[in-house]
Amino acid sequence: MAGDGLFPLTDEHESIRQAARNFAQKEIAPVAAEFDETGEFPSKTIKKMGELGFMGIEVPEEYGGAGMDTLAYVLALEEICKVDAAHGTIMSVNNSLFCNGIMKFGTEAQKQKYVVPVASGAAIGAYSLTEPMSGSDAGTMRSRAVRQGDEYMINGRKSWVTSAPVAKYVVLFTMTDPEKKHRGISAFLIDADKPGFVRGKKEPKLGIRASATSEILFEDYHCPLENRLGEEGEGFKIAMAVLDAGRIGIAAQALGIAEASYDASLSYAREREAFGTKIGEFQGISFQIADMKTRIEASRLLVYNAALAKERAKKTGERFTMEAAMAKLFASETAMFAAHTAVQIHGGIGYSKELPVERYFRDAKITEIYEGTSEIQRLVISRMELGLR
Ligand SMILES: Cc1cc2nc3c(=O)[nH]c(=O)nc-3n(C[C@H](O)[C@H](O)[C@H](O)COP(=O)(O)OP(=O)(O)OC[C@H]3O[C@@H](n4cnc5c(N)ncnc54)[C@H](O)[C@@H]3O)c2cc1C
Repeated sequence: MAGDGLFPLTDEHESIRQAARNFAQKEIAPVAAEFDETGEFPSKTIKKMGELGFMGIEVPEEYGGAGMDTLAYVLALEEICKVDAAHGTIMSVNNSLFCNGIMKFGTEAQKQKYVVPVASGAAIGAYSLTEPMSGSDAGTMRSRAVRQGDEYMINGRKSWVTSAPVAKYVVLFTMTDPEKKHRGISAFLIDADKPGFVRGKKEPKLGIRASATSEILFEDYHCPLENRLGEEGEGFKIAMAVLDAGRIGIAAQALGIAEASYDASLSYAREREAFGTKIGEFQGISFQIADMKTRIEASRLLVYNAALAKERAKKTGERFTMEAAMAKLFASETAMFAAHTAVQIHGGIGYSKELPVERYFRDAKITEIYEGTSEIQRLVISRMELGLR
C-alpha cells in the first residue's frame, strides 16, 4: 500500500497518480496560462495524453484504452486538474461521457468504430444532451430524429457541447417521440464530418477556457439505424447512467482544483509577512487553512468512495447514483470554497494573472454547474433518501 492522506492506495494506483502528476507538471504547467488566455484547444498536450493512455483509462486494451479501473481514472484526472482543469474537462468527456456510455450500451460494431479511436486519443469525442431551452429538464428538448426507413433524419440545435469544435464523434440525445417527454428521447452516434452536422458559435467562457465549447446544428443529418445507441426511447436512461459516471470525474476535477488552491495558499501563508509576522500566524488565516484541508480530505473520501462504488457496479450491475451525486456536490462546493479562500489569502496578487490562483477561482465555478448543477445533485440525493420519484 502507498499513497498519502486518509486513503491507502495500491502501488499500481500510486504509479498512475505519479505518471499523471509528472506529465501535468512537465507538459501542462508551462502552457496552461497561455491556453487559458487564448482559449485555444491544446491539441499537442491532448495528443500526448492519448499516447499515455489518459484518454481512455477504463477502456479495455483491446478497444484502445489503458484497461485500468475507476480509481485509477479518478487519480489521474485529479492530478491533471490540479495543474489545469481545462485539460481535465477534455479528458473527462472523452473517458466518462463518450467511451463509458458506448462501452456500456453500444454494440460490438459501435465499440470498434467509435471507442477505439477515441480511447486511444486518435480522435476526440463529445456528449450532447443540452439545448438552448433545455438543460436540467432534458424532457423539454426540441431537436428531433424522425425515422425514415432504415435511417433517422435529425434536425435541431444543441448547445454547450464540450469539445464540439474539435470532436470527430458525438453521442447525441434527441427526441424521437416528443409526446413521451423524457421517455421519448433516443441516443445516436454521430460522425461530425457527415453533411448536416454544422459546428455553431463557440462559447466565450469564464473558466476552463482551453476546453472548446460550442453549439451544434443538425440540418437534415441522415443517421443510419445502426448508429442508434440502445433502443428507441432509452436515451434518457442512457444519458443519466452516463452522467452518474461523469459526475465522479467532475468530482475528481473539483478535488484537483481545491488541492491546487490549498497548496498555493499554504505556501503563501508560510512566506508572506504582514505586521511583522507570517500571515499564517494570524488565526483568521490559519483557521481558513484548517477548513480547506478538512473539506478537501472529506471530498477525497467521497470521490474515491464513489470510484470504488462504480468499480463494484461493474460486477453487480448496481447503481452508484447516490455516491456520485454526493461526491460531485461536496467536492465542487469545496473547490469553489477553496479557490475563493485562496484568492483572499493571496490578497492583491491573488487577483493577478501573474499567479494561477485567479484561474483556479474561474475554473472552480463550472464544477457546480455542468453534469447537473448543485441544485440537481441535492434533488437526486434527497429524492432517493425520501423515496420520491
Ligand atoms: C462550460 C460548459 C460545458 C458544458 N458541457 C456540456 C456538454 O458537453 N454536454 C452537454 O450536454 N451539456 C453541457 N453543458 C450544459 C450543462 O450541463 C448545463 O448548463 C447544466 O446542466 C444546467 O442547465 P442550464 O444551463 O439549462 O440551466 P437550467 O436548467 O436552466 O437551470 C438554471 C438554474 O435553475 C436551477 N434549477 C433548475 N431546475 C431546478 C430544480 N428542479 N430545482 C432547483 N433548482 C433548479 C439550476 O440549478 C440553475 O441554478 C455545459 C455547460 C457549460 C457551462
